[in-house]
Amino acid sequence: AVPLVVAKSTALSAKNGLLIKNRTAFENSRKITTIVFDKTGTLTVGKFEVSKIVSLQKGIDENEIIRLASALELKSEHPIATGILQKVKELSIKIPSAEKFNAITGKGVEAIVENKKVSVVSPGYLKENKIAVPNDFKADDTETVVFLLVDDELTGYIALSDQIRPESAEAIKTLKQNNIKSILLTGDNGKVAASVSKVLGMDSFMAEVLPHQKLEKIKDLQSKGEFVAMTGDGVNDAPALAIADVGIAVGSGSDIAAETAGIVLVNSNPKDVVNLILFGKATYRKMI
Ligand code: ADP
Ligand code: MG
Repeated sequence: AVPLVVAKSTALSAKNGLLIKNRTAFENSRKITTIVFDKTGTLTVGKFEVSKIVSLQKGIDENEIIRLASALELKSEHPIATGILQKVKELSIKIPSAEKFNAITGKGVEAIVENKKVSVVSPGYLKENKIAVPNDFKADDTETVVFLLVDDELTGYIALSDQIRPESAEAIKTLKQNNIKSILLTGDNGKVAASVSKVLGMDSFMAEVLPHQKLEKIKDLQSKGEFVAMTGDGVNDAPALAIADVGIAVGSGSDIAAETAGIVLVNSNPKDVVNLILFGKATYRKMI
């Protein structure tokens, strides 16, 4: 039988945007010492808007840069794809078809478009493949930038901006007041990660993180004696969510993430993570 205080708290949690799938996860929530947050869609709104389209090659204009990119993004479900497709719609550009689409985990997407190999990739991908970023490259520290390669040649880039959720700062602050550390883990670039982590007053950040590195980071924290909660939304996050002491899936994310996690944040709101911990503490304090 479920003790009455737990049943009450569980119902109360549902009203507050928390879906408790696993009672052990709820019970464990009061022991959390560190929370690993993903960025997009949890600490930020998760809606990317194209802020800049830049061509790096003569004879190719901005519309052509985003036209080629859009062919790939039509096959992707990443929030970056949604942002790019929105812009293409506004520009009334006809999206060409893409074949042999491939998602490069944590780094971008590639496909064949009009007989050319087209890739839309992260700054990390460029570094890895020793493709130099031009000197006049400009983007704000808060902007996510993806580069367009045509037949492996750097052709242009698209900058996108997302907004930090208004509730995030308060959530991180409350965690801190409860002696809980917050760490940002994101696949996005280092500048954006540094900026978000600084604005929110988080304890540390890791950028351009690949799925297996998320898992390693959780294990590493656990081996240092931390009791770790992690928020995640993607298919890629499932292994790390499973190994965390408390796995928290973000409501808007994939079904696999939600199945793996013990808790679901229905409204993807970081404030609800705070509520989870406070509810957990209050509930089990009453029982002792
Ligand atoms: P996150 O969930 O933190 O955004 P991902 O692993 O999904 O991390 O993505 C990491 C990076 O890979 C993105 O910041 C972007 O540079 C690149 N990327 C991933 N998917 C796409 C896509 N569909 N289009 C363009 N770039 C992408
Ligand atoms: Mg993701």
